[in-house]
Amino acid sequence: MAEPVDWRADGIPRSARFDDIYHSESGAPAQARHVFLGGCGLPAAWAEAPQWRILETGFGFGLNFLTTWQAWRRDPQRPRLLHFVSIEAFPVSRDDLLRAAQAYPDLLPQAVQLASQWHGLLPGFHRLWFDAGQVLLTLCIGDVQPMLRAQRFEADSLFLDGFSPQRNPAMWSADTLKAVSRFARRGTRVATWTIARAVCDALAQCGFQLTRAPGMPPKRDCLQGVFEPTWEVRRRGPEAAPLAAGRCAVVGAGLAGAAVAASLARRGWQVEVLDAAQRPASGASSLPAGLLAPHVSPDDALLSRLTRAGIRATWQQLEQWLAEGSDWRASGVLERRTDGDDRLPPGWSAAGPNESWRADPDRLLAAGLPAASAALWHARAGWVRPARLVDAWLARPGITLRMGCRVARIEAGGTGAPRWVLRDADGRSLAEADRVVVAAGFESRALAPEYPLQPVRGQVESGRMTDGLGLPEAPVNGDGHLIADVPGPEGPGWFVGATFDRDSTDAAPRSADTAFNRERLARLLPETAARLDGQFATGATRTWTGVRCASADRRPLVGPLGPGTADGVWLCTALGSRGLSFAALCAELLAAQWHGEPLPLPAKLAAALGTERAWRESEAF
Ligand code: SAM
Repeated sequence: MAEPVDWRADGIPRSARFDDIYHSESGAPAQARHVFLGGCGLPAAWAEAPQWRILETGFGFGLNFLTTWQAWRRDPQRPRLLHFVSIEAFPVSRDDLLRAAQAYPDLLPQAVQLASQWHGLLPGFHRLWFDAGQVLLTLCIGDVQPMLRAQRFEADSLFLDGFSPQRNPAMWSADTLKAVSRFARRGTRVATWTIARAVCDALAQCGFQLTRAPGMPPKRDCLQGVFEPTWEVRRRGPEAAPLAAGRCAVVGAGLAGAAVAASLARRGWQVEVLDAAQRPASGASSLPAGLLAPHVSPDDALLSRLTRAGIRATWQQLEQWLAEGSDWRASGVLERRTDGDDRLPPGWSAAGPNESWRADPDRLLAAGLPAASAALWHARAGWVRPARLVDAWLARPGITLRMGCRVARIEAGGTGAPRWVLRDADGRSLAEADRVVVAAGFESRALAPEYPLQPVRGQVESGRMTDGLGLPEAPVNGDGHLIADVPGPEGPGWFVGATFDRDSTDAAPRSADTAFNRERLARLLPETAARLDGQFATGATRTWTGVRCASADRRPLVGPLGPGTADGVWLCTALGSRGLSFAALCAELLAAQWHGEPLPLPAKLAAALGTERAWRESEAF
């Protein structure tokens, strides 16, 4: 349930929970410019910086964010990337978000963009993407202290904005402010509209040098500060120091490698993508059409939270770079639970903010299933043609493609730049780079032999849509899946699959697997299976095979290749059969770790994707 808002007669929003108004009577953008941006020396302070990272306590209606974004847009010397991280325990509704922005017409177009991504705000982190990914908003939905503990980055500016300290002491407690100060580097500036004694004392104790400045009427003063402790500051480790963009070589031109290349190129890297094949998306990413749907479990397990974050990340990419309807379709996906278990996590309902719920009878009937079948409806889900996404990512400026290059070895090239040399089997140099990312799916095994990467062969059957075939419009998933009406070079087609055959790398189609795919379809969608019998009988169908790559625990591996390679060679692989769900998220996680940027995921979830977990389990490291 969204947080209810009292709208006062003068149009100022008020919180009944905290008995306080959301922003000053002088107007939110004026307050944002004067108190927060001005208090942190912005926009001047960010001039020519490669990126700028702001942490805010209390997102409210996002008016500080919108004003900061507007200032960034208007500034010819803006940083390449603007990160805005905000913590919010009680998100308002989308309607209220828009209503607040109505009062400020010059912010309204951006508020509309914000509102279009204001969905699915379950507790946890949500990365929103604006201006082709140059402005990234990370909403941390939850109470301030656990959210601060879960986030990790070096902030350049701190905005403290959580109702008045008298009405909401938890937001301003010494513990909260100490947790905020852990994000500061020497020189980080802090700003707020309150000069409450306890707040000043706590900030000073944390190492901020404070100044009182004229406030925004009706307030006489506001507070500004800079993190300049008199003691030496110890930070979390070498990765916290932001890295300058340089030259990177990515091994693998499938979903994982292309996503990494695009994320790094957006941050100014010159990226060479090398692949042994003659064209991109030749491995598992050559799947003609794949499903994009979240994992849902009654205990909202790790995989469920990871896939939700991943789908949000992919969705933004699809909306940004591909054509809806031909490259992908935001159709929603029906997931049949043949075991009858359609339980959802406690508190989830058809009203949201969850975007998966029990399928209603109309959806089931539309798929030709009995109205009482156990099934979920995933509203933010659909199908994607993976190669289209790979091509779109690889077409980003700053990326060079090197096809027909099989990398056999990666060698340290000495102390100077570039530091790494990629060689073929004959020892010839293929590329040189400051950093390398191995993202070659199962083929990564040659370059990362210490990892227990497992091949998982998949097989999918396909055929053409013919008049009157009458297949379900939305894809159906479960034990096996069906995707219908996917445009292709030879006209629209349907796809039935997929098998999971561990430890097999056999590329040849197998008739036993075709029979298995058909059997499962007959159980999943009996009516549909019968409609396709004719095409199978006349040999009008085709078979696709591919080999995915899985880790021991089935989660992706993103991180340094070994304990000593954090500043050199990284791995981004083992996306399994969830490349569409994970590629964009893993790439942003890798880029965030390289640059000391805000994490797109809570730290524990990020660690659940890290390579370190493989190091712990293997003596090879
Ligand atoms: N910065 C906002 C803007 O630009 O619109 C206004 C922020 S409003 C004054 C304060 C926000 O802090 C409210 O939205 C409230 O729900 C949130 N908040 C209050 N206590 C919190 C807590 N303990 N943890 C996280 N958020 C909290």
